Amino acid sequence: MGRIRFESTESEVHFLNPMKEFNEDVQILEIRRDPLLGDTSVFNPELKDKAQIFFGSCDQELIDRLVEESAKTCFFCGDAVAKSTPRFMPDFSSEGRIRVGEALLFPNLFSLGTYHPVIRLCDAHFLKLSEFTPELISNGFRAARQFISLAYDKDPKISHAAVSANYLFPAGASLVHPHLQMIATPLPYSYQARMLAACSRWQSDHGSSYFVDLFTEEQGGPRYIGQKGRWHWLAPFSPLGNNEVMAIHEDTADLHDLADDDLDNLAAGIAAVLRHYETLGHLSYNYALYSVRHEFDDGGFRLLLKVITRQNLYANYRNDDYFLQKLLQSELIITPPEELAEQVRKHFKG
Ligand SMILES: [Zn+2]
Repeated sequence: MGRIRFESTESEVHFLNPMKEFNEDVQILEIRRDPLLGDTSVFNPELKDKAQIFFGSCDQELIDRLVEESAKTCFFCGDAVAKSTPRFMPDFSSEGRIRVGEALLFPNLFSLGTYHPVIRLCDAHFLKLSEFTPELISNGFRAARQFISLAYDKDPKISHAAVSANYLFPAGASLVHPHLQMIATPLPYSYQARMLAACSRWQSDHGSSYFVDLFTEEQGGPRYIGQKGRWHWLAPFSPLGNNEVMAIHEDTADLHDLADDDLDNLAAGIAAVLRHYETLGHLSYNYALYSVRHEFDDGGFRLLLKVITRQNLYANYRNDDYFLQKLLQSELIITPPEELAEQVRKHFKG
């Protein structure tokens, strides 16, 4: 018996169903709690395989039109990226921007953190999910690692960072062009702060890192997806987003510590998950990699990446972030994590 408790509560719902001539219907809800934070998610088996009702289908014609229209004024495309994107102050970086392959990192025009660079990932204005290659994603993370090294050198107070992606409007992106956003701050933002506090408690109670205990316990189980290098991939028991998959680094909590092959392996995992999302008919996604600077790390945390799908893109699409997510901070499970893991595993072979 492991130390981690995967708890859920069942609830019976009785009602008179008009689709069954007002006969009594019973639905059994499963409410799950995240073992670390207690965050809840709810699974109603009646909604299984009904993703279509919630997420609809992407409207290819609408997407083609958005891509074509937005490309005309895109300042991440062609020569515009050099002319129209901000540069760092010369005392921060003499180069002004960081380039790795097609990836180009530069300051955000409107910063949401002490440091808030944007990383334009590629030359292409639009990519299908299967076109996000490991190389392209890895170059983006290599630029992020170079940036964090620079920020650490300049600013001893910078303690926490996140490298994240918003793909397309339903995920909150204001630009179609594939890009990452990175935040480096002297304090962790809310969600990471909650995880860190809980990990510290776990470490003082058990003498180990919660996330190392988590992948060790999940390994070989129904939610474990696979290992790529020093990253362990799994579907979390109580997800905070749709189709959530996460990766845990075995050893370190700091992006700055990662070797090239760590970044290549992380990128290969992300590309595999995105390929699976494409087979599900999804296009819009978010992910975030949470990092803690070595000097501020008590050993309880590990680098963690979470990736989720978002609402599909069609005219008048319904937002997938409603009272349940936004104000109750709970998520609806359509595909149980155990089944999601089984599906994603196929993309991790080879
Ligand atoms: Zn563009």
